[in-house]
Amino acid sequence: MNDSKPEKLLLWDIDGTLISTGQAGEFALQDSIRATLGAHPDLSGIEIAGRTDRAIAQQILLKYGQEPTIARVAQFLDGYVEALARRLPERRPFGSIYAGIIDILEKVHRRPDLAQGLLTGNIRRGAKLKLEHYAVFHYFEFGAFADDDYDRNRLPPFAKARAEARYDVRFQPSSIFVIGDTPHDIACGKAIGARTVGVATGRFSDQDLVRTGADAVFPNLSNTGAFFDFIDNPRPMATRSETTSPDKRNRRKDRRTGEER
Ligand SMILES: [Mg+2]
Repeated sequence: MNDSKPEKLLLWDIDGTLISTGQAGEFALQDSIRATLGAHPDLSGIEIAGRTDRAIAQQILLKYGQEPTIARVAQFLDGYVEALARRLPERRPFGSIYAGIIDILEKVHRRPDLAQGLLTGNIRRGAKLKLEHYAVFHYFEFGAFADDDYDRNRLPPFAKARAEARYDVRFQPSSIFVIGDTPHDIACGKAIGARTVGVATGRFSDQDLVRTGADAVFPNLSNTGAFFDFIDNPRPMATRSETTSPDKRNRRKDRRTGEER
């Protein structure tokens, strides 16, 4: 048993960063619209990017003419979680765990100087279902979830506090790394003065993420050496941004929802 304490904290986004669920989340939202609102599902106009599940549920209830009371939001999300459990296996052929992720999670897990948790707009039950389905939930002992607040930017302190309680240490903002695929993840990290890592595996390009002022941007995390090089020796963006192939750079990502769920 190694009793040394972690010095750095890595906080991971889920969708578009660790995994793609093959849009199981979006299908589950639609299922819950049918099941709990008895309506034809239409997610147009619903902002999903950077929003927490509770905030998404609020928007959906309003769109369908219902007052988004705490009870109704909870009921809608109960329907969502129930549907998600069905949709994850069904959408598995279209989903994936991104390149390099398992290798990185395993290496972080084995390094006593690093701790890792979740920082996600998913409600905890949804996060657990998604990550258990892709067999990586056990890497995360703590996290911050939509259950903690409607506003994603208010989630980091919950993750930080849980990490500090778990390890009985204090993490300086410069020792915290927020890793995500959307400008909202980067903003969320900056809100607590953390270092930010953008990864262009979701619906935003590396150039989109560079523009957010992320401290490092990677096309994906298959180059695990480059990722740990940044974690171990974080330096400004200019020396860390990886180049990508022109076709990747020019690829237009679908921004209708901005982020896959
Ligand atoms: Mg994401």
